[in-house]
Amino acid sequence: MFGGIKTVPGNHTTMSLDSIDRVAVLGAGNMGHGITEVTAMAGYDVTMRDIKDEFVEDGYESIEWSLRKLEEKEMIDESADEVLSRIDTTTDLEEAVADADLVIEAAPEDLDLKHDIFTDLEEYTSGDTLLATNTSSLPITDIAEAVDTPERVLGLHFFNPPVKMDLVEVIYGEDTSDEAAEAGYEWVESIDKTPIYVRKDVRGFVVNTIVGPFGGEPAFMVSNDEATIREADATMVHERGYPMGPFELADLTGIDVGYHVRKEGDSPIPPITEEKVEAEELGQKTGKGFYDYEDGDGADYEPEDAGDFDWLRVEARMINRAAFLVGEDVATPEEVDIGVQLGLGFPEGICRRADKIGLDTVLEKLETLYEETGEDRFEPHPYLEQLVAEGKSGEEAGEGFYSYDDDSLGPYHDLNYELEDGVLSVELDRPSRMNALSEDLLSEIDDLFSNVDTDEVRCATIEGAGDQAFCAGADVSGFSDANPTDLMDVTPAFETVNDFERPVLAKIDGFCLGGGLELALACDLRVATERSEFGAPEINLGLIPGGGGTQRLTRVLGETRAKELVFRGNHIDADRAEEWGLINRSVERDDFDQTVDEFVSDLAGGPPIALKIAKKVMNEGEDASIEAAIAMESQGFGLLSSTEDVLEGTAAFAEDREPEFEGK
Ligand code: NAD
Repeated sequence: MFGGIKTVPGNHTTMSLDSIDRVAVLGAGNMGHGITEVTAMAGYDVTMRDIKDEFVEDGYESIEWSLRKLEEKEMIDESADEVLSRIDTTTDLEEAVADADLVIEAAPEDLDLKHDIFTDLEEYTSGDTLLATNTSSLPITDIAEAVDTPERVLGLHFFNPPVKMDLVEVIYGEDTSDEAAEAGYEWVESIDKTPIYVRKDVRGFVVNTIVGPFGGEPAFMVSNDEATIREADATMVHERGYPMGPFELADLTGIDVGYHVRKEGDSPIPPITEEKVEAEELGQKTGKGFYDYEDGDGADYEPEDAGDFDWLRVEARMINRAAFLVGEDVATPEEVDIGVQLGLGFPEGICRRADKIGLDTVLEKLETLYEETGEDRFEPHPYLEQLVAEGKSGEEAGEGFYSYDDDSLGPYHDLNYELEDGVLSVELDRPSRMNALSEDLLSEIDDLFSNVDTDEVRCATIEGAGDQAFCAGADVSGFSDANPTDLMDVTPAFETVNDFERPVLAKIDGFCLGGGLELALACDLRVATERSEFGAPEINLGLIPGGGGTQRLTRVLGETRAKELVFRGNHIDADRAEEWGLINRSVERDDFDQTVDEFVSDLAGGPPIALKIAKKVMNEGEDASIEAAIAMESQGFGLLSSTEDVLEGTAAFAEDREPEFEGK
């Protein structure tokens, strides 16, 4: 992991940073107990330390409760007790850290307190222990001042709650060595989380740098009577796809939290935020904030409240922050985009969105606002100006934050694919949205299956990223404001998968609902883990399945069962799905990969032309009369008899060996 030997100044002459086996977490609060839990889940021995027995006990009980839930839902491969057996607790700092290879500090956000802790760490740890802080807002460099060896101090910024949130920012302080940052990065990967580097110690790191204007700009606009709270929230959620409106989010996290972050960062504070803090209306926790949670209905905005809220003003400011991060080499566009998607649940990366809007449009917006108001926050970052000046204004221009190469497949942002040994493995990659099908994801699926060279593919698999879902449905944000006739333009993605010339297998682990179920139905075969759940819940939204679901379900299940699923909108479990013939196999999670491998091996090793014709004849025959379907079949049969594959198949049969089909 931590490659090599490094000489460092100070008391310690050498540090050999080979492996991380034992971890200590300091603090058993919100974050500390969660970090302890995910560390132990990944197989590490971990000691959790707090200053009082009762705090340690509370933290441990929270871990135990959470692990039992995960065990119940089969989301961990071993028992809760096995995971718990790797966790020790103590109130003694020296005992906690003496043998640790990695210490993660998750004590309250107070620089003096953190200094005291790191001063003690210098005394109690050996020089090759990696020292990390989970601070959200203090500079890593300032915390590292307490030790003689700041090279080994870094930020590991988890998100709340660590068990659910995939992202960890790996932050360099001014003196952090590459070895230390790389060891932290690899360790984060080893606990099955997604790390991104934050290469400079900037306030807010990556994620909070971007989210600042998301809340701040609408608050300025409302303060200036340029918008209303409901307009802002309705637009950002229902038209721009964010999981929560800016004011709804502020009420949830606490209006005082954002206020203090701004104050500490010397950022201007929107008057409306100041008023709320003065009135002690801090959000949900006080019963009242921007919305009323006691006498009112809380965040009760509706899609029709959107009006003509100027969303571009808000997004342009977030994009300007992204330009700062990329331009100053704090993070790459990919890292910024992973950060906002996994850390904030944004529907797509902000750099990616910027390229779609057009960087010239964004720059013009900022310039106009800067000219009109003279406010510094609108001043375009030089990197944004540079990209536009170089003609790199986004997707249409072929290059922006990203480069778009017309000749190759992709680039895809919401899916990953790999083509190896004839197997096209596709992963829907929106884990923060349970891989819900956005317009972009659908068009990427369509593009990949339409344009991949089928000569290179023998079979394809589709699965979902993360550990919650194959795909939990269509991303419904955007539906409410869509023109009804636009909704009639059904995406071609499902048909493209259905018509793909090679067999497609859906690997289902977790939720397979709505559009996700329709995608699975467009595949030829479906293998699922026992914990998976299936359903067509559209009816609960006043909709019907719109991606072929009503038709394919009837063909696969028969009318009786299909109508039960569509009319009732309930979930069924994998065993019932197997009994009904909705899936080919329901298997235990431990056996899932092997079962899939067995299917894939048969499909990839099978005769490509015969499989193609079998798929076509079976799919098309379903909608034809039996006579026409049989005629289609015999035509296909005739075609196959002249192929080399048939000669190979029959020869191999006679010689009692495995055939080697070449698709000729
Ligand atoms: P918390 O108040 O829930 O927990 C802090 C715990 O640290 C408490 O149990 C406290 O008793 C304990 N503590 C105090 N002094 C200690 C010491 N000397 N040694 C060990 N433990 C000590 O706070 P939290 O929300 O878990 O935040 C912890 C850190 O994580 C902060 O730096 C915060 O900025 C950061 N953070 C918080 C969040 C979040 O959403 N809560 C997210 C990311 C990062």
